Amino acid sequence: MFIDTHCHLFYPNFNGEVPEIINRAIEAGVEYIIVPSTNLASCRQAIDLANQYDGVYAAIGIHPHDTSEWDNSIIDSLDKLSKEKKIVAIGEIGLDYYYDFSPREKQIEAFEQQLELAIALGLPAIIHNREANQDTMEIVRKYSLQGLKAQFHCYAGTVDEAKELISLGHYISFTGNVTFKNTDDIRKKLFEIGTKNLLLETDAPFMAPEPFRGKRNEPSYLKITAERIAELFNITLKELSRVTNNNVYKLFKVGKQTETSFTYELKGNLYINITNRCDSNCVFCGRKDEPIISGYNLKMNEEDEPPAHVYINEIGDPKKYKEIVFCGYGEPTIRWEVVKQIAYYIKENGGTTRLNTNGHGNIINKRDITTELKDLIDIVSISLNSSDANQYSKLMNVSKEYHSEMLKFASGAKKYSQVIMTVVGLENVNIEAARKLVEEEIGAEFYVRNYFE
Ligand code: SF4
Repeated sequence: MFIDTHCHLFYPNFNGEVPEIINRAIEAGVEYIIVPSTNLASCRQAIDLANQYDGVYAAIGIHPHDTSEWDNSIIDSLDKLSKEKKIVAIGEIGLDYYYDFSPREKQIEAFEQQLELAIALGLPAIIHNREANQDTMEIVRKYSLQGLKAQFHCYAGTVDEAKELISLGHYISFTGNVTFKNTDDIRKKLFEIGTKNLLLETDAPFMAPEPFRGKRNEPSYLKITAERIAELFNITLKELSRVTNNNVYKLFKVGKQTETSFTYELKGNLYINITNRCDSNCVFCGRKDEPIISGYNLKMNEEDEPPAHVYINEIGDPKKYKEIVFCGYGEPTIRWEVVKQIAYYIKENGGTTRLNTNGHGNIINKRDITTELKDLIDIVSISLNSSDANQYSKLMNVSKEYHSEMLKFASGAKKYSQVIMTVVGLENVNIEAARKLVEEEIGAEFYVRNYFE
C-alpha cells in the first residue's frame, strides 16, 4: 500500500475522469491521496474531493505563483477553511525564484504568514522551493524553532540541507523525476539523503515517471516511482511502503499507525524485539524518543512484553533466516529466561542465534549467566562503547564499575560463543584504543558500527 502525498487532483486535465483515476490508483495499491491546493478556488476543490472520496485528504494554501495579490484577509479565509473535515496540511506554499510569477517580497510575506498559520493550527506545511534555497532555509530554520513540521515536496535543495531539515524533524519527497534517464544526480542525492524521512509523491498531473515522461501523470504511476526508489536502496517495495507510510502517519496523520512488532525481518535476519527496558541510558539511544526501525514500530511497555511462545509462533522455521537476533530497543538480558526459551527453540530447529547486548547481563541477573550461553547463543555482540571506563560511564549513564563487569562478561562469553565487540563511531571515542583492548586483551572481534546496527 502506498500513499501519494502530493497530487493536484483538481487540475482541469483530470476533469470528468476522477472516479476512474482513483480506481486505477487503488488497483495499483495507492490507498490514500493528499491533494494540495494552489489558490483559494482550488482549496475549495480539494476539500470537495476529500469530502467525496474516502481515501482523499486536502491541504489548503496559496502557491508562490499565486501570491502577487496576497493580503492579510487571505489568512482569515484559510483559517476558516481549515475548520473543514479532512484538512491535513497547509500547502502548497513556499518560494519560486525560477519563474518569479509573483514579486519575491510578496512570496516571502505569504510564505511566512502561512507557516505561522500552520503552527497555530498544529498542522504540517507542504513546501515548494524552486531556486530559492537560501531564503527557504532561513525561513524554515526560524519557524522550526516554533514547532514547524513540513514536507519538502519535489526536493530541490542540497544533500546537506536535507540532512539539516531531517534533523529538524522535516520530511523529503521526490517525484517521477527519479526515474528519468538523465537524472543520475537526483538519484545520487536521494541515495545520500536516505529513506528515514522519505515520503512518496507523484505531483500529478506533472512529473510523470518513465515511460510516461511528458504525459499526464496520475496517482497510479506512484508505483513506478516507488519501484525505482526501492531498487536504488536495494530494499523491497514492502519495506519502502512500510517506511514511507509510517512517515506519512507521523507527519499528516493519514493512514494507520504501525502496530508494535515483536519480531521483524531485515536483510535476511529476523530480529526479536524482547523489551524496551534497559539498565543504562546512553546519550545516543533513541529508544525513548522514537523506537522505530525501517518503519517497524518497536515501542513496548513492560506490561505488553509477550511470553516466549508468541515469539516462537512468529519465528516458525528458524532456518529461513541467516540469524535470529535478540535485539530491540532495550537490553535483552533483562528478560534472560525468555531469551533462553526462544533460543532453545531456535537451536533445536537448526537456526543461528545472536545476542546484541550491553554486556551487563551478569549484573542484571545477579549471577554469571555467560555459562548459560552454551549451545544456545552462537554469536554475542557486545557494545563496548569506549575503552575508557570514565567515558563509558558518561556515555551510558552508569557507574564506572560497569565497564569492568562488561569486560568480564565478554571474557566469559568467549568460552561459549563467538564474541564481537562494537563501538558507535562517535567523536571523542578513541577507536584505536578500543580496537586494541578488544583484539589484544579480550581476544574478540572488533567492529565500528552505526547506532542500532
Ligand atoms: S544499552 Fe542499548 S538500549 Fe540500553 S540505553 Fe544504551 S543504546 Fe539504549
